[in-house]
This record gives sequence, structure tokens and C-alpha cells, in this order.
Amino acid sequence: MNNIMKYKRIAVKIGSSTLTHEGTGRLNIRRMEALACTLSDIKNSGCEIILISSGAVAAGAAKLSISHRDRSLSEKQALAAVGQPELMRMYERLFAAYGHNVAQILMTRDVVDVPVRLEHLKSTLSKLFSLGCLPVVNENDSISDDELQFGDNDTLSAYVAAVAEAQLLINLSDIDGLYDSDPRKNAHAKLISRVEDPSMVSSCAGEEGSLVGTGGMVTKLRAAQIAGGAGIPMIITNGSDPRVLYRVLEGEDTGTYFVPRN
Ligand code: GLU
Repeated sequence: MNNIMKYKRIAVKIGSSTLTHEGTGRLNIRRMEALACTLSDIKNSGCEIILISSGAVAAGAAKLSISHRDRSLSEKQALAAVGQPELMRMYERLFAAYGHNVAQILMTRDVVDVPVRLEHLKSTLSKLFSLGCLPVVNENDSISDDELQFGDNDTLSAYVAAVAEAQLLINLSDIDGLYDSDPRKNAHAKLISRVEDPSMVSSCAGEEGSLVGTGGMVTKLRAAQIAGGAGIPMIITNGSDPRVLYRVLEGEDTGTYFVPRN
């Protein structure tokens, strides 16, 4: 774990498709358990963590035994209201088993646009870190509308990593990283291990994401640009086994590394 000590604070983003079972959309408890165990261990090593977690809409739909697919905006807002406490209950329980306290932050877009709100967020996060808590951030989907929303947690995670002054943003995805073409369509697609400038590779991004989450490679590249602009490197890697976080922090080549701007 020695290399982990070089990071004082990291941001980890996990998407709905990684947090839920593909067929049912219900929470993937085994994966969430592995995530909580790994993050708790990394936190025990002295590294502060902020988790940006999707999954509210999917958890809400699963709780009400309806499909999360093809829902209107107001339905998704209602499902998020049902699912967000469900998601936090699960995190609360899993992290408590390792002696860690989670804290919920629900963001709206204006928080990053209005300086006074941004200052409040910064000071709350700083207090939470000093209290030893692990903030779990999501968009406040239930009151975000089309114009006033981040819309996807990839973008949100980059802003949050910047506000939290994280040294690294790790995007745990349902794909291994950025490929030179869509690996779902091209069996010969090659993983790109290092990207110097995300704007130069947008043609590799394709359009669609998974069926569950909102993001795709386009939003991940946008996130890499925002994080990189704030001097924060970003890594996209496959989150199906959250223990991959150890390998990332130990400096192994996993997924795609986006070099930050100076
Ligand atoms: N905030 C949404 C949720 O919790 C997810 C957005 C995304 O997947 O990027 O369901």
C-alpha cells in the first residue's frame, strides 16, 4: 500500500450500471460491499476519499418494482427521491461495518456557478474531511431540471474533484477505459492507456452509454477536460471489481489515464 500514501485525497466516481445488476436494475450488493471494503481500507491508510455515486434513479425504480428505462423527467425525479435514501442506507450500513461515517451531499448545477454557494460547499467538504467522514455526492435529481442540471455524474464528478481539491479522479465504469473505436461493435478495438489531450480523442468516444446510467464516453471525456483543467488527472477503469482501486493507486497501468494540464 506504500504508493497509496502519496495521495492525500482522491475522488472516486461510480456509475449506475456498475452499481446495479444489468438484468434487474437492482443494487449489486456484492459489488457495493467490495467497494465499501476497498474504500474503507484505502481510507485507513490515511487517504481521504470523496465518492460520487449514481444509482438513485435505478434504486428507486427497483424499490417500486418498475423499470427505470424510458421514464419522463418527472418520473425520474420521483424515482430519485425514492432511491437516494435507499442508496445512502446501503452505503451507511456497508461503511459502518468498517467503522467509517458517510455524509450525503446533493448537488445542483448552480452550486458551481454561484460563488457564495461554492464557498459553502467547499467549507462543508473541508469540515467533513476534518471530521473523518466520507462524503457521498450525487446530483439532487429530484429538483434539477433540464436547464439547471449537470445531467450526468461524470461531469459532476469532475467539478466535485476540483472543489474538493482531490489529487486524482478515478471513474469506475462498466468499460475498461477509452478505446480507439467502439469495443461493442469492433472486436479489434484497442484500449488507449494514456491521453494527453481529451479534446483530441473525441472521435473515439461514440455516443451511447449503457442502458442504466446517463453518461457515455462523451461525458467522460468532458469530465477529463474539466478535471485536467483543474490540474487533476483522471483515470477511467473497469469498476466490476472495485479492488482495481488498489492497482490504480499503486501506479499500475489500468484503464485510461488522462494527463492534466499544468
Ligand atoms: N444522478 C443519477 C442517479 O443517481 C445518475 C446520473 C448518471 O448516471 O450519470 O441515478
